[in-house]
Amino acid sequence: VIFNKYQELKGNIRVMCRVRPVLDSSEGGEAKIAFPDHKTSTQIDLTGPEEKSSLGAVVRRTIPFEFDRVFSPAVHNEEVFGEISQLVQSALDGYNVCIFCYGQTGSGKTYTMSSADGMIPRATHMIYDTINQLKNKSWTYTMEGSFVEVYNEELNDLLTSGDSKKKLEIRHDDQRKQTTVLNCKRVELDSADKVELMLREAQNNRSVAATKANERSSRSHSVFMLKLVGENSATNERCEGTLNLVDLAGSERLKHSQAEGDRMKETQNINKSLACLGDVIEALGRGSSHIPYRNSKLTHLLQYSLGGNSKTLMFVMVSPLEAHLKETITSLRFATKVH
Ligand code: ADP
Ligand code: MG
Repeated sequence: VIFNKYQELKGNIRVMCRVRPVLDSSEGGEAKIAFPDHKTSTQIDLTGPEEKSSLGAVVRRTIPFEFDRVFSPAVHNEEVFGEISQLVQSALDGYNVCIFCYGQTGSGKTYTMSSADGMIPRATHMIYDTINQLKNKSWTYTMEGSFVEVYNEELNDLLTSGDSKKKLEIRHDDQRKQTTVLNCKRVELDSADKVELMLREAQNNRSVAATKANERSSRSHSVFMLKLVGENSATNERCEGTLNLVDLAGSERLKHSQAEGDRMKETQNINKSLACLGDVIEALGRGSSHIPYRNSKLTHLLQYSLGGNSKTLMFVMVSPLEAHLKETITSLRFATKVH
């Protein structure tokens, strides 16, 4: 609903903010975050860190941020999905859609995107329901999923394990504005069970590749790509859309000075690719004629799902903790820049 309301006003890019709840009291004190407009929920007021005023007194400023929508810690995945269901429908209608989760490690990206009741299973369930209803109107759909990871500016298939892995390559069809990833496994998702299986397989392959699964997942971007092809036997209409759901690498400021060798390269690649994503979205929002897709693997992969008549949603996830305040402000500033 929100999406259509703002459509003409603001183009095809939306930014929404989600604050996760405190998990338990041992996590530490809460930051002061206020949601002043509960009815429309588009604003968040943050009380910043202590500063010295010009007169030497200790002060804390309130910093307001505005987005297309703000979700307080009390909001469940169901309500969050309510805001993206329009986008899922758009993919069925033949649009390319990208939904990103941006935020520091531990802010709720994976919970929002790929937990058992997160956006991926909810989106696929909605798609199954809609496809079933459309059958009565002569539409037949096929749904094909692939799952890749961008790590150190390289693409890895998360649906293929160990030895059978081949090098993945991005191929763009500039005429049709479509992208295929060569050598990437594609799974026909003709039942809900298959989605679950696929998510589990991706999870396993990720853990096999890394000594500590969590560490790896916070340093790579995972991209779930759902290709939807519909054909109408009565009218011969055809539509082809893609829904990309992206769980980004942790955005926490990684300091170059503390890292050496491989870790340093990893750090630089994360910083670079997140900055590049920000630059691309910001350039699209400005209506710039040059969009720097080629500056990172992720934006190169998603180039035909970003811009043109595709639709983009960025969730910026933040922690409610005082200890994370600086990181939270950095994340909200990033999100404000692309908004
Ligand atoms: P990230 O993927 O950003 O590193 P996670 O999604 O793993 O963060 O979330 C960190 C922890 O917080 C996990 O234990 C997760 O279950 C919990 N969590 C995150 N968001 C919520 C939420 N909205 N409600 C309840 N628990 C949450
Ligand atoms: Mg995660």
